[in-house]
Amino acid sequence: MIPVRGYDGAKVAVLGLGRSGLATARALAAGGAEALCWDDSAESRAAAEAAGLTLHDLTRANAFEGVSALVVSPGIPHLYPAPNPVIARAWEAGVPVDNDIGLFFRSLAAGEWDQFDTPPKVVAVTGSNGKSTTSALIHHILTEGGRPSQLAGNIGRGVLDIAPPGEGGVVVLELSSYQTDLARALTPDIAVLTNISPDHLDRHGGLGGYFAAKRRLFAEGGPDRAVIGVDEPEGQYLANQLAEAPGDDRLIRISVERKLAGPGWSVQARKGFLTEWRKGRQVASLDLRDIKGLPGTHNHQNACAAYAVARTLGLSPRTIEAALASFAGLPHRSQLVAEKDGVRFVNDSKATNVDSAEQALKAFANIRWIAGGLGKDGGIAALAPFLGSVRKAYLIGHSARDFALQLGDTDHELCGDIDTAVARAAEEAQPGDTVLLAPAAASFDQFPNFEKRGEAFVAAVERVVGAG
Ligand code: ADP
Repeated sequence: MIPVRGYDGAKVAVLGLGRSGLATARALAAGGAEALCWDDSAESRAAAEAAGLTLHDLTRANAFEGVSALVVSPGIPHLYPAPNPVIARAWEAGVPVDNDIGLFFRSLAAGEWDQFDTPPKVVAVTGSNGKSTTSALIHHILTEGGRPSQLAGNIGRGVLDIAPPGEGGVVVLELSSYQTDLARALTPDIAVLTNISPDHLDRHGGLGGYFAAKRRLFAEGGPDRAVIGVDEPEGQYLANQLAEAPGDDRLIRISVERKLAGPGWSVQARKGFLTEWRKGRQVASLDLRDIKGLPGTHNHQNACAAYAVARTLGLSPRTIEAALASFAGLPHRSQLVAEKDGVRFVNDSKATNVDSAEQALKAFANIRWIAGGLGKDGGIAALAPFLGSVRKAYLIGHSARDFALQLGDTDHELCGDIDTAVARAAEEAQPGDTVLLAPAAASFDQFPNFEKRGEAFVAAVERVVGAG
């Protein structure tokens, strides 16, 4: 655990008692603060009380009297579509609002660091898609390369739950836009932006607010090194703002769409090969085509970002190459679940938006596509150019009918639920086909979360594959 510094003897309110809220309360107590815990759900409050935490009703008038700060969980809206009333109350009372990420950055550096030859470093990864894969890949490369690494944030453990890093230790944080928007301190040594596409717009008042939240990670005087995907204008703009000159190597540009020219430092992937360029010359090249855990251009983008971070931390191209080859991939992200009679079954339940589903449709051929759920604004209209690889769509959930109307000439069938969709797709599949779950929709109409949806897909696949 990282004890929270700066609040010894003070009262700090904690709103939201999920995984990160509970870890925050414990870390505050370890640093000598009194944590006043609250959650709108009675069930979460009861669980927190059972875990020995002190409840304090933050919805009461004067609830913030004598309170030094309010720490909020990422799932709680702090501004759009409307601020949570407890947060509005803290504003009224003039109490600073923060989150566990802010507390982490303030509390990490410890007295004994001055005895380390190689002080710990923090890598923070944000972006619209690929955050988890990129963070897990960086952690994997470092671990394989013999560097002590811990994975935390949106993936792995809550940030305040990790062990204090020792000599040469690296902390890899996956950070969502909700987290970067609110943190009062954001000082990673290396910051990564994978890409930008519209998502979570209701929580950020539109695309501008969403990008602004992510940009905070790169604020002036920020990271020693920035790794930025420049395939969208937002990434290009940010890279341009951070660079002092064309050859400034505080910045590593990433692209999977075009060849980057110029004297700067870049990592690019084209036609399955990753190349690293410095001062106008190619310094390394790696073949990504046969890496099972990283299929598709989108995963090559993640590989470029992870490669750039590992190079920054002093690993050689060959060490990184060996580690990439042994990366198994993450569950629910382009995950090969089974292969039978020449038919592959791929679980990409995490493809909850159109952009990630597009990547999945581009990564495979002869697709039997299971899609649907709680569709987002615009449905799947934007996927029309990528339907050429789809042999047939098997539609599920709330948005099935809407999606059907947007499929044009693409063959499709309304299946209702995931079990039926898997059974029908498996029945019709021919050797060389890929049965792909890439819903382009949230899961909440039929499942508690995308993980449960992916698990249901895997179970259904096991049934049809096991049935012989
Ligand atoms: P995040 O943590 O940002 O949601 P994940 O690594 O969990 O990212 O991947 C989310 C979804 O996006 C998955 O469907 C995955 O296959 C897809 N994806 C992964 N990397 C990328 C990328 N670089 N660009 C677009 N889509 C991606």
